[in-house]
Amino acid sequence: MLLTITTTHQPATDLGFLLHKNPARCQSFSLSFGNAHVFYPEASDDRATAAVLLEVDPVGMVRGKGRFGQGVLAQYVNDRPYVASSFMSVAIAQVFGPALDGRSKERPELATTPIPLVATIEVLPCRGGEEFLHEVFEPLGYDVTAVRHSLDEMFADWGPSPYYSVTLSKTTTLSELLTHLYVLIPVFDNFKHYYVGHDELEKLLKRGEGWLGTHPRRDAIVRRYLKYRPTLARQAIERLIEQDDQPADEFFTDARAESREESLEKSLSLNDERLQAVTAALAATGAKRVLDLGCGEGRLLRELLKEKQFNEIVGMDVSIRSLEIATRRLRLDDLPPRQRERIRLIHGSLMYRDKRLAGFDAAAVVEVVEHLDPPRLAAFERVVFECARPATVVLTTPNREYNATWPNLAAGALRHDDHRFEWTREEFRSWAGSVAERFGYSVEFHPIGSEHAELGSPTQLGVFRMREMDRG
Ligand code: SAH
Repeated sequence: MLLTITTTHQPATDLGFLLHKNPARCQSFSLSFGNAHVFYPEASDDRATAAVLLEVDPVGMVRGKGRFGQGVLAQYVNDRPYVASSFMSVAIAQVFGPALDGRSKERPELATTPIPLVATIEVLPCRGGEEFLHEVFEPLGYDVTAVRHSLDEMFADWGPSPYYSVTLSKTTTLSELLTHLYVLIPVFDNFKHYYVGHDELEKLLKRGEGWLGTHPRRDAIVRRYLKYRPTLARQAIERLIEQDDQPADEFFTDARAESREESLEKSLSLNDERLQAVTAALAATGAKRVLDLGCGEGRLLRELLKEKQFNEIVGMDVSIRSLEIATRRLRLDDLPPRQRERIRLIHGSLMYRDKRLAGFDAAAVVEVVEHLDPPRLAAFERVVFECARPATVVLTTPNREYNATWPNLAAGALRHDDHRFEWTREEFRSWAGSVAERFGYSVEFHPIGSEHAELGSPTQLGVFRMREMDRG
């Protein structure tokens, strides 16, 4: 496992002062999982490269099972010795501690000065694909090149591996580069060799300060970093949001705050497509007064605000926290009065009849039903289709069949920990058909996202229209 850092800042040998590692020597450090060796393949005034070579001891790891847990590490033959992973982060922190913190005894000013830097990670496992790699590093200002390795050069038909050689270039401080590597390398590997606990959250918040809160893939990064601990991830995201109150625009390019679902759906594009499709379906009805039921943090509301046709927009959610975030992200308090009058957020539950929901032309219910317990769907149906009773209901939900296209998702698993179910196309059609029938609506279905020939599209959309004769 090899990481190199190159600079052309002159004199380039100052890299040695920044890293507190003498370019003339090779040094070795003993870490809990093996050894780290630091050396300089090149060190001239024009150009210097520092290399960190990690020697991970897979046999030692198996012997120390208690410490390193089960799964891949319980095997002698695993990829750990060869790929950049959380071991590399540990090495960065232990071997380059002062540099990571931006401290240099000999060159304190240079430590806080942006210099041209290139990091090469020899083998980075990119779970989530190359696209995710670009989505993570490019917003941070890096030029990214990635070369994918085949599984075995001798056997071309085995196909490509998830492993890439990655080069990242940016003019920045060494401390920033090391910080990004420290946080992000394990995010790609999506696997940690140690138990992820509360101090991991604190580490993430400390190292993520100033950049993670506004990162467009913040939620995916946090959830992967704090793997298997969705509660920690939620806390981290909330605290990051509090840390930096960035403008709404940046927030809304975020992927949705969902765990597996998010990385699976490559949600930037799918989420955008979903919002566009729903907005278009609502607009096409000529609706002026619209509801967003289960509005969450307000992503659809933001799209609705852009459409002048909607002169009364109401978002409702059972989560006060989500409504607070939506208020802040939509900058409701800063809107000019005429805009402010168009939108309201209300706290309520779709389980209970609510007079405030009556009298609207259309309602959106985006990715909400799958969060409801099946026995409570009947209550939801009556609240929306009998009590609120808008002329149009635009509803989206995942298509479970499509999950089979995601190799990282275990067979039968759902996209999100809080999903109570996910419907096949047939199940959705049958539920929606029965609702339409019982409440006097017609329903038609549309795919959202790229369609698979057999499995359909990732998201399914149903548009319910009240039958003319039933309109009162
Ligand atoms: N529509 C949003 C959020 C989807 S996540 C979007 O597409 O981004 C599901 C949302 O449904 C969450 O915000 C959750 O708080 C809300 N929700 C769950 N149960 C609810 C209920 N009984 N009443 C109202 N909202 C509910």
